[in-house]
Amino acid sequence: MPAEQRPRPNTRVANSSGPSGNQKLQGKYRQRMKQADVDQDRTHRWLKSAGLKVETEGFIIAAQDQSLPTRWYQRNILKKPDVDPKRRLCGRFDETIGHLVSGCPELAKTEYIHCNNKAAAHMHWKICKEFGIEGKERWYEHEPKTVTESDSVTILWDMPIHTERTIAAKRPDIVLKNKKDKTCLLIDMTTPLDTNTLFKTTEKLTKYKDLEIEVERMWGLKITTVPVVMGALGTIKKDMESYSNKIPGNINIHELQKITLLSTTHLLRRVLSIK
Ligand SMILES: [Zn+2]
Repeated sequence: MPAEQRPRPNTRVANSSGPSGNQKLQGKYRQRMKQADVDQDRTHRWLKSAGLKVETEGFIIAAQDQSLPTRWYQRNILKKPDVDPKRRLCGRFDETIGHLVSGCPELAKTEYIHCNNKAAAHMHWKICKEFGIEGKERWYEHEPKTVTESDSVTILWDMPIHTERTIAAKRPDIVLKNKKDKTCLLIDMTTPLDTNTLFKTTEKLTKYKDLEIEVERMWGLKITTVPVVMGALGTIKKDMESYSNKIPGNINIHELQKITLLSTTHLLRRVLSIK
């Protein structure tokens, strides 16, 4: 019987041991998919059209179902008494998929930034193309420069904006200043755990409000913050395209989804292979 048709036991505690605990975990992703802000059709489209290898597809689905051999899974589902569910990287939290994908302080230092940057670098490459800026033919060979300049635009990459007032959040992934139409986009990509995508767009819009006001005053440009939120395991929210469409260069959210899924797969495969 396929997993989704199996009757679910009544579980109360996510960390309860045994299959009931795991089904609760599986349920989290599926519950999230049913929420009104998720674009189910687009979220699942990668299975039909991303052209991923069969084993990669299987791996991603297993990650969504929390059935990869994390330490937590080995201890609580496979019932291996010698496995410490907290051990491998930070040693402070149970090693679940959610922890590895977005919650581990060890991985936060480099890995999450790297995953995030891949998709952001793709957008940077597309923006450069749109404005006729010379660059690599293939996006994955593209290494964004801190400052890219042309007649019509200035593009900043991962660079804190110098402000007169003290502002906490002043380093969006991409700042696109358009000298001709006197506008400026603050583009910030994030790839949180899928169950945490609900409030991320609003969070980003709020986070850059101070910077918007300050930059508008300093540069005299009309500022728009553009949050680009993609679940690490592929969740696309219904409002996502309304933001990505503000970015010049025909950003395709399914390309961003594929890049994100491959980055997450790469991260999980690497961590899970550490002895
Ligand atoms: Zn950790």
